[in-house]
Amino acid sequence: MSTSELNQDLSQHLATTLGPVAQALEAQPGLPEVMPETAATERVCFFDYPLEDLSARLSGMGKERFRAKQLYNWVYQKRTHDFEEMSNVSKAFRSELPMLFNFDLPKPVQELKSVDGTRKWLFDVGQGMTVETVLIPSKDRLTLCVSSEVGCNMACRFCYTGKQKMKRRLKASEIVGQFLHASDSLAKDGLRVTNIVFMGMGEPLDNPDEVFKSIKILHEPDGIGFSRRKITVSTSGIVPLMPRITEAGVRLAVSLNAPNDETRSKVMPINKRWNIYQLLDACRAHASASGDHVTLEYVLLKDVTDKLEHARELYQLTKDVPCKINIIPFNEHPGTEYLRPDPEQVVRFQNELIRLGAHVLLRRTMGRDIFAACGQLTSLYEGRPEKLDAAGIATSARH
Ligand code: SAH
Ligand code: SF4
Repeated sequence: MSTSELNQDLSQHLATTLGPVAQALEAQPGLPEVMPETAATERVCFFDYPLEDLSARLSGMGKERFRAKQLYNWVYQKRTHDFEEMSNVSKAFRSELPMLFNFDLPKPVQELKSVDGTRKWLFDVGQGMTVETVLIPSKDRLTLCVSSEVGCNMACRFCYTGKQKMKRRLKASEIVGQFLHASDSLAKDGLRVTNIVFMGMGEPLDNPDEVFKSIKILHEPDGIGFSRRKITVSTSGIVPLMPRITEAGVRLAVSLNAPNDETRSKVMPINKRWNIYQLLDACRAHASASGDHVTLEYVLLKDVTDKLEHARELYQLTKDVPCKINIIPFNEHPGTEYLRPDPEQVVRFQNELIRLGAHVLLRRTMGRDIFAACGQLTSLYEGRPEKLDAAGIATSARH
């Protein structure tokens, strides 16, 4: 494909998207998607409701608002949705519950464990679609990397998820469901998730309403009570929607991935809409409003972004942004045109940034043997490797 054909293809890829990105592309940034109201009597999924919305729904049906807290307590803290067990809920209300709510969650269909402790779950989200969720252990953390969409329309050229068009935005319940299943599974081993990152499949700011709803649900002190300071939302740079990350009180990560506009536009088409300077301005705004450092993710692509001159350019570009730079050596996947840099070059790149005074972390590649590393997640289950053997050769566990 020629460059102009590729550009046309990519712009169509973005332009055909419905929802916040398309709205933003049409210079109407930040407009929420208008969702049809659910009729008060329709049976809805419990896990789609933040506490205040649940209270409002119940009071709209003439029920006491405190019932919402009771249900939250049973479902999220005692982890039961067997209505008969809900001893402090009146019998009459209990008998109505099955008509009001379903408790459907995405179905886990596979769990893989890496030799390094990484785990990956595959969830069936209906109509033949799947998403992946990864648990990454480190010295003092168990970080759950959740997906926000099936596929992704941002078309970043180094990302396997970006090779597939976005097929569907996940509902809040499907995001919360990834967490609940991982938590239940870890609890059996006496473990718990300590951090959540929206760095799985999809662009969180292309699905903002459901993503921020899921964050409300995860944070609700009468429910799961997960600290917002332990939640990070990563974006490829949908600049007009970035203030919503600040408002949600969570941490911001940005996939910078290049030291200048020219290279960034080549590897991340979104840069043609909002350039690197607009993006870094949004990062500074978040840092000053939240008092937090922003994490800038930087994928090292051999010869494209991994040279020492790139490290220097990156330092100059970001030195006045309160940030830490997370360098991620490129992870290979089927059909990619990029190469992973040699380990020595990765260290040289890191050392150059350190020498200049940047705050830099090298992200250790985890879960490569189960195809769970950054940028390797997919909903395309047929014809993709599931595991890499010790020599790094892709094999399918299905055959
Ligand atoms: N869509 C969001 C979050 C998911 S991507 C975003 O782009 O920020 C999570 C991270 O994986 C991003 O920082 C991305 O740059 C990185 N990534 C994507 N493909 C990769 C690959 N093949 N190797 C290493 N990192 C990759
Ligand atoms: Fe989408 Fe993020 Fe992958 Fe880009 S890096 S294609 S935004 S998932």
